[in-house]
Parts: sequence; structure tokens; C-alpha cells
Amino acid sequence: MYPNYFYRYLCVIACSLLLIACQPASEPQWALQGKTMGTTYHIKLVAPEQTELTETQLQQEIDQLLVDVNHAMSTYQPDSELSRFNQLTDHQVFPLSSATRTVVEESIRLYHMTDGALDITVGPLVNLWGFGPKARPHTIPDDELIEKTRLKTGVEKIQLTDEGITKTITDLYVDLSSIAKGYGVDVVAQLLERHGISNYLVEIGGEMRLSGHKLDGSDWRVAVEKPESMQRTVQQIISIGDNGIATSGDYRNYYEEDGIRYSHTIDPQTGKPIQHKLVSVTVVDPSCMTADGFATAINVMGFEKGKAFALEHNLAVLLINRENGQFKAYNTPAFEPYLR
Ligand code: ADP
Ligand code: MG
Repeated sequence: MYPNYFYRYLCVIACSLLLIACQPASEPQWALQGKTMGTTYHIKLVAPEQTELTETQLQQEIDQLLVDVNHAMSTYQPDSELSRFNQLTDHQVFPLSSATRTVVEESIRLYHMTDGALDITVGPLVNLWGFGPKARPHTIPDDELIEKTRLKTGVEKIQLTDEGITKTITDLYVDLSSIAKGYGVDVVAQLLERHGISNYLVEIGGEMRLSGHKLDGSDWRVAVEKPESMQRTVQQIISIGDNGIATSGDYRNYYEEDGIRYSHTIDPQTGKPIQHKLVSVTVVDPSCMTADGFATAINVMGFEKGKAFALEHNLAVLLINRENGQFKAYNTPAFEPYLR
């Protein structure tokens, strides 16, 4: 009797263990956050089944990756790859890391496509207006100085070959701040995918990449904010599928002098901060880097030109204009499927 009972008991335990093993591992949703590129990042993801990876390990990998991106492309770090290039006073060929090359190449493509609205050589103007690593000026620059500085800009002044990048004028200064955050989001998304993670939301300073679903199977939803600097309220809820999304607006980064608002986005044609009623531009694209570049470029163009550009290229764009003290939103047909 005893052995029989024992074996049956053992069998029940074995079957239960087998059942537990066959069930999918519980799929926790992880939330990671930290600081990078002068802002914060937030990541949410559904952990893959039967993973060896821990949340701490993943966070360390992400932090290291973002440190590397910053060390390549930041103009705020004097010893970054980009700063070392900017500091060159001669016309030698400067070899580029593949990360920086990717971002520079995409920026050059968008420069031509946007008729120079996105211009990564706008750095001397960004610095002149006090939005670069140096403090902001005490006086607003005069037209002569603006024009003199403007002559130092233009992507044609960069030479990019297989060997590297070369300045054709000594004062050339490349600023990747308009597009590097988007690139950072893309490489974090790629890192997650290499770990077999396919359900995630990655956000750095408002630029995002989304993929798959939340733990409960529902869509990731994104709130596009009303473009107000004092409070955070929702303008539009969207759900963008597996895509990148970036917003450019002058409602967070600006300063006021004598009642005039100076935006950190510079119109390369005038050499001055943009001054128009387009207050926020949101772009959806599979690449967050591309979305980031387009958002800045359309912001430079202003409402009418930006809308025409988005329609011409069939881009998914949401523009928010300030009209008679009210916010008026317009979305392109390509943006329509994302509205909720
Ligand atoms: P945010 O997402 O914070 O609104 P953007 O992506 O629009 O920022 O990029 C703004 C930054 O890009 C500025 O701080 C400046 O360094 C740089 N910049 C400003 N004007 C231009 C421009 N016309 N083309 C490319 N970069 C620009
Ligand atoms: Mg941008």
C-alpha cells in the first residue's frame, strides 16, 4: 500500500511540475528610466518569456548605449567625437564612427529634401542665439553679426567621403541636437529587439518608438500635449502601431526678452529663431531619427509651407497652430489612421 501511494503522490507532483513548466513564464511589464542627452528617458516593455535577462542588466546595457551615443554626438561634451571635429582648425579628413555617420548622412538627405530647413551646420547660429552649450547672450545680436554668422552655415560646406568628414571652412560647426535624440530612441529599440523583446515603448525627451502591445494586449497610446509651457494637458490621443514619433515645438525651449519669445529652432534662411504661429509639429515615421529631423524641419517651415511639404511627401504629420489665442490642429491624411 505504502509504495503505491508514494508513487501516485510522486506522479502528481511530477505532473504538476510539468504543467508549471509548460505554462508561459509570467510576463512582467518592466519600466526603466534614467537620464541622458540633457533630458530623461522612460522605457516600458513586456519581458520576453524564459529570459535570463534581468531588469538591472538591461538598464545597464541601455545606459551604456546612451553614454556611447552622447559621447559620439553631443555638442555639450567637449571631448565627444562631434566636439573634437568642431574644434578642428584645419581641413583634415576626420574619420567618423558608424553611429555618427548614420546620423550625418540622414541629416544631409533631409537637408536636401527640406530645401535646407533642417541644417546641421546651423551650430554657429544656435550658439550665437545662446541655445548651444554656452550661456545665452545678454544682448540680441544685430543684423550684421547674424549675417556674418549665417555665412558660416550650409551643408555644402561639409565634405563626407568613405574616409571621413572634412570642413571646407574653419568655422564650420555641426550640431546634431535636432536629430540625435531620435537616433538614440532607434538604437535603444534595436537593443531591445536583439534581446527578443518585441512589445515596448521607448521615450527620450518626448521622442518615442513603439512596438507591439502592452502586457494586457492593448495598444500603446500616446498623448500629444497641448503646446503650453506652463501646464501639461492633452491635445490628442493617438495609437501609432510599430513606429517612431517625434514632436518639435517652441513651447518648452525658449527665452523671452522685452516680451519677444526666442525659440531654440533657427531658420537657416534668416539666421534668426523662428517667429510664427506654428507651435507644435508631430511626425510619425518608422525611424524615430527621421521623424525627429522632419519635425524640426517642418517647424522651421511654418504652418502653410510645412503642411504643403507634408502633403507632397505623404508624411504622417499633426500640426498645431495658434490662431486668435486658440490652438487649431491639422493632420495630414497619412496621420488619420493614428487618431483615437
Ligand atoms: P526639440 O525636440 O527639443 O523641440 P528639435 O528636435 O526641434 O528639439 O531640435 C532643436 C535643436 O536643434 C536646437 O536646440 C538646436 O541645437 C538645433 N537646431 C536649431 N535649428 C535647427 C535647424 N534649422 N536645423 C537643424 N538643427 C537645428
Ligand atoms: Mg527634431
